[in-house]
Amino acid sequence: MCQNAVPMLPRSRVLASFFALSAVACVAVSGCAADAGDGSDEAPDGETSSTEEEIVSERQLMGSELPAKTLALTYDDGPGPRTGELADYLAQHGVPGTFFINGMKLPGRQAMVDKVIGRGHLLANHTQHHLQLTKLSSANVLKEVSDTDAIVRAEQPGGPFLIRAPFGAWNGAIAKNLNATSMKKYVGSVFWDIGGELTATSAADWDCWGKGLSITHCGDLYMSEIHARKRGIVLMHDIHGKSVDMTKYILPKLIAEGYKFVKLQDVPSIKRALASAGEPDQGCQSATLGRSVAENVCVEARRDSKWYRCVDGEWIGSAGAADAKCTQRFPL
Ligand SMILES: [Zn+2]
Repeated sequence: MCQNAVPMLPRSRVLASFFALSAVACVAVSGCAADAGDGSDEAPDGETSSTEEEIVSERQLMGSELPAKTLALTYDDGPGPRTGELADYLAQHGVPGTFFINGMKLPGRQAMVDKVIGRGHLLANHTQHHLQLTKLSSANVLKEVSDTDAIVRAEQPGGPFLIRAPFGAWNGAIAKNLNATSMKKYVGSVFWDIGGELTATSAADWDCWGKGLSITHCGDLYMSEIHARKRGIVLMHDIHGKSVDMTKYILPKLIAEGYKFVKLQDVPSIKRALASAGEPDQGCQSATLGRSVAENVCVEARRDSKWYRCVDGEWIGSAGAADAKCTQRFPL
């Protein structure tokens, strides 16, 4: 299955371009369309040695292990004006969704969040103000997560507690920071397999709307990427009404084609991580193993079959068997 998985991002890109790409994958707060594609988010100072793939593949949770024709739908940056309508629509089709909310969007939209829960969907944490966590102080990272946690916890006291970092910008320091607090219950960051970039054969919903693409054109591009990857976590943004309409366009097609829809907490990498959420934190969280490992432990990643070594709390590429610095190796 791993060998069939299409790498999400080119290996050669450095972290700087990772953040440029990620920034446009999940646009901040108000004026999403206007801000789309301006590339204003840049890499944090000093973080230029890691490739995108190293950042994404072993630390962040993805859906490449799902069976063929299986998807998990996720919606970010809400609750929006039509989130309740979307929650109803998905439920009518027996499709579970996950809504990664920004706490700052809640005023006036409590009913939307209640509807998400009432229809059996999952509420999850996308932080309070959609700031890039890698640029914040430890205290502010904690506040961004814990403020939205208060909303999630009130609605969904038993969990599961999942987090997706704004812009996909996440690293070991953030994880370590949160794991030293009551936010340790959170599992993440949850990345995505489909919906991250607008190209000739794929789309990112917010970028479609910013560039004036029609709902059917954007939906067809989502279908194209889904057909190519066959499985995965799908990223959309319920803050945009057009994304609700696009869901209504593509979902009947997917159901007719035999696609199945699973809860996000049933995605294998997330299921493993949730099972170990309360365990002591070591050097690096491994998506493959579903737990943290100590410094210099090497893991062959399930998503891309490449080796990574935990160094200073971050994953770096490794030669695996030929890497003498590996104190322990976990092959697939
Ligand atoms: Zn977002």
